Amino acid sequence: MTLSVADPDWASYTLGVFICLSCSGIHRNIPQVSKVKSVRLDAWEEAQVEFMASHGNDAARATFESKVPSFYYRPTFADCQLLREQWIRAKYERQEFIHPEKQEPYSAGYREGFLWKRGRDNGQFLSRKFVLTEREGALKYFNRNDAKEPKAVMKIEHLNATFQPAKIGHPHGLQVTYLKDNSTRNIFIYHEDGK
Ligand SMILES: [Zn+2]
Repeated sequence: MTLSVADPDWASYTLGVFICLSCSGIHRNIPQVSKVKSVRLDAWEEAQVEFMASHGNDAARATFESKVPSFYYRPTFADCQLLREQWIRAKYERQEFIHPEKQEPYSAGYREGFLWKRGRDNGQFLSRKFVLTEREGALKYFNRNDAKEPKAVMKIEHLNATFQPAKIGHPHGLQVTYLKDNSTRNIFIYHEDGK
């Protein structure tokens, strides 16, 4: 059995996994899915011991980590509490890696960044936040960084992007054409490194 820590003195007897002292504290915060006991100090019922023996960390990993996105960082015992708690909750409480549709937007085909967008009136380029979400099948941009509502939502299926370096005056210039209210709109954007 591979363990992420040398001395896993604690166990979740509802999940059937051995954990370290620090993680046992996190597990205690999600009693609806995990109940914790000390391997050495607590009394164990026969059925609980059998459950541990028939499950274990490898089996839990096979189940609860079956669909971890490839870019998702798996914290180790050396990582901070916050990072491990996010991981433990995603894995056991929300079961995001069994049911990918439950994955938070950050892990499910979600990209966000800043692009230079040409203003409609004066032709000046301004930095705008753009968000690409696979779940909604849309590219959105925001006029203000703290804006709740996007300025425009462009459905990927109605979106066409072509490189227009000459028109935009930048080597990574992009013209994005999309449909809004049944009419075609254009926006002109670029990014320094052309990603
Ligand atoms: Zn741990």
